[in-house]
Amino acid sequence: MADKRDYYEILGVSRDASADEIKKSYRKLAVKFHPDKNPGDHTAEDKFKELGEAYEALSDLDKRAAYDRYGHAAFNGGGGRPSGGGFHDPMDLFSQVFGGAFGGGFEEFFGGGGSRRGSGKQKGSDLRYDLEVTLEEAARGVEKELEIERYVPCEPCGAKGSKGSGGIKACSTCGGRGVVARQAGIFIQQATCPECRGAGETISDPCSSCKGDGRVQRDSRIKLRIPAGVDTGTRLRSSGNGDGGVRGGAAGDLYVFLHVRDHDVFQRDDSDLFCSVPLPFSVAALGGELKVPSLDGQSSIKIPVGTQGGTVFRLREKGMPSLTNGRRGDLNVTVQVEVPTKLNSEQQEKLRAFSESIGEHNSPMQEGFFEKAKRFFDL
Ligand SMILES: [Zn+2]
Ligand SMILES: [Zn+2]
Repeated sequence: MADKRDYYEILGVSRDASADEIKKSYRKLAVKFHPDKNPGDHTAEDKFKELGEAYEALSDLDKRAAYDRYGHAAFNGGGGRPSGGGFHDPMDLFSQVFGGAFGGGFEEFFGGGGSRRGSGKQKGSDLRYDLEVTLEEAARGVEKELEIERYVPCEPCGAKGSKGSGGIKACSTCGGRGVVARQAGIFIQQATCPECRGAGETISDPCSSCKGDGRVQRDSRIKLRIPAGVDTGTRLRSSGNGDGGVRGGAAGDLYVFLHVRDHDVFQRDDSDLFCSVPLPFSVAALGGELKVPSLDGQSSIKIPVGTQGGTVFRLREKGMPSLTNGRRGDLNVTVQVEVPTKLNSEQQEKLRAFSESIGEHNSPMQEGFFEKAKRFFDL
């Protein structure tokens, strides 16, 4: 994360660039670094990916505002931010910007010969996984092992899809392009080749384990570090852990959607926590110490003499850490004064004596209330 480049720098625009300038710059650079123009060039592929992410972040007003404010942290899982979260497949984004997957954009820029298909490789799909964590795990961060059924490269054929090396041939129907031209009224449309289904090649001796796909479905285990501060709605992207691609194509990404389980004691609002703790009425009147739960174990608060029920005590930095900057919120403890329910006759007697001794002039809330409400009591 630390060496992630600035989105404005990637797109080669200034920080106050207009939406139009951003789009123009993206179009220019995305064509330059498109994988079809740079086959096998991983630097170009990375650049293309990086461009897609930068464009996606800066072309959306909310995302751009979040990025201007928080930098890359704004999309670090996205928790708590209005529009954080993962990014789309850079290929899909490219198609979107250039108007439709095979709408002519590619031909226009790649001079007729190119297509994103061909060579048999196809990128794997992104996958979604819903993961539930406890509040404690969300507070401290946790390592999880996810079990996911997904496509992984086929080992026996080395993800090629063919038993031997001579079995792969360019598809004769489409000439290896993966697409065929089709007349539709006065237009010529491009359609996925029906013979090779877009792969651009046919296999005469398909591998028996993957049937020529170059990938097989397996239960796989993926270790994932959940950062401290995640909340329900946080999305994490695990790059390359989606479905493996067809015949050695790049793998998709895995998007993990987090759900934080409700807690017995604490309620959460962003990075603040809330809880109610019973307070014996004698301690409320006399003052003293009250033990309260916190995520760090037990804490205690000092109860002043004459504390009323409903009083909120704030314990600073005892709440949840923020996903973006690690700063902790507060824990807000509401005390609920508890009236004893089983008094023996001696205790009742003492309380009666107490009640008489205190009279009517030592209860500020009551006095204030009767002052306002006396017309209801016909006194
Ligand atoms: Zn074909
Ligand atoms: Zn195979």
